[in-house]
Amino acid sequence: MACSKFPRIPLAHLPTPLEYLPRLSEHLGGPRILVKRDDCTGLATGGNKTRKLEYLMAEAEAQGADTILTIGGVQSNHVRQTAAAAARAGLSCHLVLARAVPWDDPAYEVSGNVQLDHLLGAQVHVLPEGTDREAAFHRMARVLRTNGRKPYVIPSGGSNAMGAMGYVTCAEELAAQARDAGEKIDYLIHATGSGGTQAGLVAGFHQLNSETQVLGVDITAAADDIAAKVWAIARETSDQLQSENALRKTSVQVVEGYAGAAYGLPTEQMRAAVRQVARLEGLILDPVYTGKAMAGLIDMVRQGRFSPEQTIVFLHTGGMPGLFAYNEFFQADDAI
Ligand SMILES: *Cc1c(COP(=O)(O)O)cnc(C)c1O
Repeated sequence: MACSKFPRIPLAHLPTPLEYLPRLSEHLGGPRILVKRDDCTGLATGGNKTRKLEYLMAEAEAQGADTILTIGGVQSNHVRQTAAAAARAGLSCHLVLARAVPWDDPAYEVSGNVQLDHLLGAQVHVLPEGTDREAAFHRMARVLRTNGRKPYVIPSGGSNAMGAMGYVTCAEELAAQARDAGEKIDYLIHATGSGGTQAGLVAGFHQLNSETQVLGVDITAAADDIAAKVWAIARETSDQLQSENALRKTSVQVVEGYAGAAYGLPTEQMRAAVRQVARLEGLILDPVYTGKAMAGLIDMVRQGRFSPEQTIVFLHTGGMPGLFAYNEFFQADDAI
C-alpha cells in the first residue's frame, strides 16, 4: 500500500463493514445502494475523523508533542474524536470551539458532542460570538508555547494531506472489500465539509487506477470554496504518494444544492432522509453531514442520475451525537 510508508497509530476498528441496504434500494427503485460503515470506527462513538487521526496522532508523537490543540464548531465531531485520541495517548487536549451555527435548541451547547468533549477530559474554550476564529486559534497555540507546552496543532476537520492519508487507506480498504464481494462500485457518495475525506478518497482511488467516481455532497453552502480546498489537499496527498499519473481536476466533483441555508442549519429534505433511512434500514444518520448527503443521494436517484445496473456506496461518516443537539427539530412534525 502506497500510504504504508507514513507512520500510523491504530485507533479505528478496521476494516469497517460494507453492507447492502436492500430496503432503501428497493424503495428508491434505482441503483444498488450499499453503505460503508465509517460510523463504526469505534473511537468515542466513531466517525470519519478517526482514520485521519491515526496519521495525525502518529505525527504528534513523532514530534514529541505533549498537548493536542484543535478547532471546530460547538458540535464538532472532529473535535470530539480528537479529544478521545488525545486521552488514549495520555496527552492534554485543548479545544477551541466556535459558535458557527445560529441554532437555539437548548441542547445545542450542552448535549451531544460538547458533552462528550468534557467527559473526555479536554479543556474546552468556547469563543464569544463574532470572534475571529483563526486568530483565536493561533493565539491559543502561542499561549500554550509560552507556557512551556509542546502543542501539536490539528487544523479544522483534521483536513490536511497527513489527515487525508486516512482516506487513502479507506479507498484501498473499500476496493479490496468490493473485489472480495464481487462488487463493482460506480459511485461513492459522502458528505464533504472541510475537504480532507474527499481529497483522500480521490487521491486514493486515483493511485489504484479505480473507476469509482467520488461525489462529495456539499454541506457548507459554499461548494466552490470546498471544491478548491479538496483539490488543493488531493494534489498534495497525491504528490506525497508519488502517484504515477497526474491527478485531474475533474476527479473532484462537489455536488451542491443540499446544504440548505448554511452549515448546521437543518433542512426538510434532511429530516425526511434521516427518518426514511432509520425506518427502512435501522440506520441512524446525523443532521449536519450524513443526513444532508443522503438527501442528496435520494434526490439524485429520483432524478435518474444513476442507472439500475449501477452500484452506489454511501460512506457513513458518523456524527450521531450531533443528532441529540437537534432534539426539538426532530420532535416537531413527527410524520414522514
Ligand atoms: C467532518 C465530517 C464530515 C466531512 O468530512 P471532511 O473531511 O471534513 O470533509 C462528514 N461527516 C461527518 C459526520 C463529519 O463529522
